[in-house]
This record gives sequence, structure tokens and C-alpha cells, in this order.
Amino acid sequence: MKLGIVGLPNVGKSTLFNSLTKAGAESANYPFCTIDPNVGIVAVPDERIEKLGELYNTKKVTPAVIEFVDIAGLVKGASKGEGLGNQFLANIREVDAIVHVVRCFEDENIIHVEGSVDPARDIETINLELIFSDLEILERRFAKVTKGARMDKALAKEEEMLKGIKEHLEEGKMARTFEVPDDEDLIKAFKEYNLLTAKKTIYAANVAEDDLADDGANNPYVKTVKEIAASEGSGALVICAQIEQELADLDEEEKKEYLEELGVTSSGLDKLVTESYSLLGLISFLTAGEDECRAWTIKKGTKAPQAAGKIHTDFERGFIKAEVVPYEVLIKEGSLAAAKEKGLVGLEGKEYVVKDGDVILFRFNV
Ligand code: GDP
Repeated sequence: MKLGIVGLPNVGKSTLFNSLTKAGAESANYPFCTIDPNVGIVAVPDERIEKLGELYNTKKVTPAVIEFVDIAGLVKGASKGEGLGNQFLANIREVDAIVHVVRCFEDENIIHVEGSVDPARDIETINLELIFSDLEILERRFAKVTKGARMDKALAKEEEMLKGIKEHLEEGKMARTFEVPDDEDLIKAFKEYNLLTAKKTIYAANVAEDDLADDGANNPYVKTVKEIAASEGSGALVICAQIEQELADLDEEEKKEYLEELGVTSSGLDKLVTESYSLLGLISFLTAGEDECRAWTIKKGTKAPQAAGKIHTDFERGFIKAEVVPYEVLIKEGSLAAAKEKGLVGLEGKEYVVKDGDVILFRFNV
């Protein structure tokens, strides 16, 4: 899973990105890395695998991960090729979801490209560039479809939808709020356009340090961001990129103390990763053993064989059964054997829908 960080210049994107990847690099047990200067791998915080690790006396604990991409350089006119605009837009097309950083902090020393802090205007500026870029894609598809639409019913249907999406975007609305007709072909076509404004988005309101303790409750900019997010079914959260950067330099103990001092319980990064996870409809199942305890990412609703396929394609191909015990039960009983004795370990088949926190042992045959 890949998330792209976007926003106007000087809103705190790089600060956030650097603290994300740095925090990752500092945590033990996992070869976190910055793949290239703009791409970083970040662990999904999950204390369950740590606890499982202790239970199994395991050699290695591996969290689920998310990839973050710092997409700098989106400015007004990007869709018209301003700066390296088009290239950045192409980068966004490759991500699964977008984190849109919005400046909600005042600081005279840090220039705002538009001269003032104004989240609604900033959000609109970025979103319009995304909309323009999407309109171009739709135009191209439209030109193709129109040629065949008179002879081909399916194409005519698509042509109709394309018109609808175009109108929707031209009103300044995002494609994610467009109601795709309940038709298999159209749903598929819509997905294939891979529109930027159809991607799930989390707005990250970047606030000053003093606004962190009450989660930005007294910051009117934050209210604006939250309202915009709600109006289009997007997520929103409050972060302070500067604090995150400081936190990234601390060890676990110091970090806890500092967070307490600030009056917050978890770091913004943890919130961001957790929120992204739920926005994308993702959950984790766990595997446990002496060699490794590990969290694996799947979409909600994934069945046992496909979950097994995340570990290895052979596991999916040769799937027989899954031995499943909920994490809480396993911890409470103290061992798999104890849970089994009480009949608390399920033997599940191909139709079993994996749940968050399931500890699974796959039986397979290849
Ligand atoms: P980008 O252009 O969006 O990547 O912005 P940067 O991350 O480079 O940040 C621009 C400037 O704003 C830097 O000098 C940061 O130190 C500063 N900055 C970022 N986040 C905050 C914040 O939460 N509060 C304050 N006061 N400054 C911040």
C-alpha cells in the first residue's frame, strides 16, 4: 500500500515525511528504509505482534508496512505544466491514497506561497489541479468512446457516464463523490480511469504546537479542514509536523514523556498510519512462531485462501484449512495448546472471512 503526501509548498510535507521515515528507521527489528529520497517505508504500529513475540520467544517481529511518497512541487498551474507539474501529477496517479497536508499554523518566518494562511483556498488550489488533470484523462477517453458509441451499446453507456463525471468535476467536485451507476461494466471502467480525485484522501491539518493538546479544537482553520473533509467523505486529522520531527529523534521512553508533557496520548504519525489503514478498509492478521511473529495487511472481507496468498502463492494454491484463534484469546490462554484444549481454535475452510487480529496457521498442500 502506497500513500502520497501532497499539499502546497511550505505546508510541512517534507517535515512530516522525514519524521515518518526517521521514526521508522529508529524503531528496532525492522529494516526500515528510505527507498529513494521521496519514498519511505513505515511500520503500522501494532503492539499485538510485540506481545506475540514475547509469548513465542520469537527471533524476529515484523510489522505490517505502508509506503509513503513525498510528492513535492504541486503548485497552481501544475496541470498546465507549471514547474514540473505533470510529472508530479503522474506520481500521484500511482498511489493508493492521498494525504493532503494543509497549513493551519501561523508563522511569520515561514512564507506562505499565497501570502496568508487559508485552508479552504489552499485545499481548493490543490484539488483544482487534480481536477484539471482528471478532466484531461476523461477527454481522452471520451474521444475514444464517442467514435464507437453509435454502434456499440456498452460504449454509449460509458459515454453517458463520462459526460456525467465531466459535469461533476467542472462544478469543482471531486470524482470520489460522483455516484457511479450500479452497473458492473461502468464500475470497472470508472476504476480503470484511475482518477486522482477518486482516490481516498486524508486531510492532515498541520497545526502549531499549542494546538495539539486539544486536537485543534480552538483553531478555526482546523474546523474548516474537517468540514471540507466531511463534505466529501474524506478523513481528517490534526498533526504538528514540527513536533513529529522532534519526536522522531527521541527513544521510546523519552517519547512517552514528551507526549505526556504535550498532553497527548499518541504521536501524530501513529494516528496517521492508523487512520490511513482504516480509511482504506485494511486490517491485519497475524502469524506467530519461534522464527517470526508478523502482521500482514489485507482488505476487510478477504477470505482465508487469499489471505494465505499474501504470505506465499503456494499457500493460496494448496490451501486446505486455516487454524484460527483471535489474538485476545491466545494471549488470555497463554498458548496455542491451551486455547486448543478449550476448543477455542477454529478450523476454518475456504469461505472463512479473516478478521482483524486473527492469529492464523495455514494448512496447505502443494
Ligand atoms: P513542504 O514544502 O510542504 O515540504 O514544507 P516543509 O516541510 O519543508 O516545511 C516548510 C517550513 O515550515 C519548514 O521551515 C518547517 O520547519 C516549517 N514547519 C513545518 N511544520 C511546521 C509546524 O507545524 N509549525 C511551524 N511553526 N513550522 C512548521
